[in-house]
Amino acid sequence: MAQRAITLRSARMLSPKVRELTFDPGSPFPFVAGQWVSLKFPLTSSEVVIARSYSIASAPRGDHTFDLAVTLVPQGPASTLLHAMSIGDEVQSAEPMGFFTLPPKLERPLLMIGTGTGVAPLRAMIQSLETVADAPPVTLLFGVRHREDLLYADEFEALAARDPRFRFEPTLSRPDPSWTGRTGYVQSHLPELLAASPEASAYICGLNAMVRDARKVLRETLTVPRDRVHSERFD
Ligand SMILES: Cc1cc2nc3c(=O)[nH]c(=O)nc-3n(C[C@H](O)[C@H](O)[C@H](O)COP(=O)(O)OP(=O)(O)OC[C@H]3O[C@@H](n4cnc5c(N)ncnc54)[C@H](O)[C@@H]3O)c2cc1C
Repeated sequence: MAQRAITLRSARMLSPKVRELTFDPGSPFPFVAGQWVSLKFPLTSSEVVIARSYSIASAPRGDHTFDLAVTLVPQGPASTLLHAMSIGDEVQSAEPMGFFTLPPKLERPLLMIGTGTGVAPLRAMIQSLETVADAPPVTLLFGVRHREDLLYADEFEALAARDPRFRFEPTLSRPDPSWTGRTGYVQSHLPELLAASPEASAYICGLNAMVRDARKVLRETLTVPRDRVHSERFD
């Protein structure tokens, strides 16, 4: 598969464990919101080159740059390297790929369900819908442990405040006493949110255990047809 060098243009911490990296591929890098890139990392200790996938966290924009949001996994070689990259460093990337994308014609409300950096492709989709005049209503159910882990919360709150079609529903599994919002795992909120939007298509992204459980609730308990449940697993 064709590879090209992409250059780190800027970076910031989104939460204690998640770094956003904005890469510049230097020329057009076509992708659809929801797709991912495969990055290659040579390990200094050996001849081995490892590849890891990362969902693009931004919609396509005019300057070709794109964002990744990367969780630092303890002893994880690729995430450690991405957290250590300096501005101007390069990494090898394949062209964007993947099928976790929205259909060209959106006929149903969208119920997006993400945990941790699983929110990355959902953020890209949400950004891509901002320029669509007749975009359907979108609910984002975003689950993390602590309040400080709510990536892009300011953005989602601002969007919800200015666009009545967008509803932001964060839930914390380990809330602090001052938290007055939803608590517990995303799965437990699905019956209520689907009841509010029974015709919705679901888009789920995160680690396998959550995706498996959320799919089970939607498909078996709430009898959502298979063609309305889409998912991407990180492990
Ligand atoms: C299609 C796809 C898209 C992905 N997009 C992203 C993304 O946008 N952001 C991102 O951080 N990771 C993403 N991943 C996961 C990523 O590819 C790596 O698995 C992750 O960075 C760990 O790699 P590593 O070499 O650091 O650690 P490894 O030694 O390979 O660690 C593997 C362990 O890390 C855990 N893990 C993997 N991803 C995460 C995560 N996000 N949060 C917590 N634990 C995790 C796995 O459960 C596994 O136990 C994606 C994976 C796939 C398949």
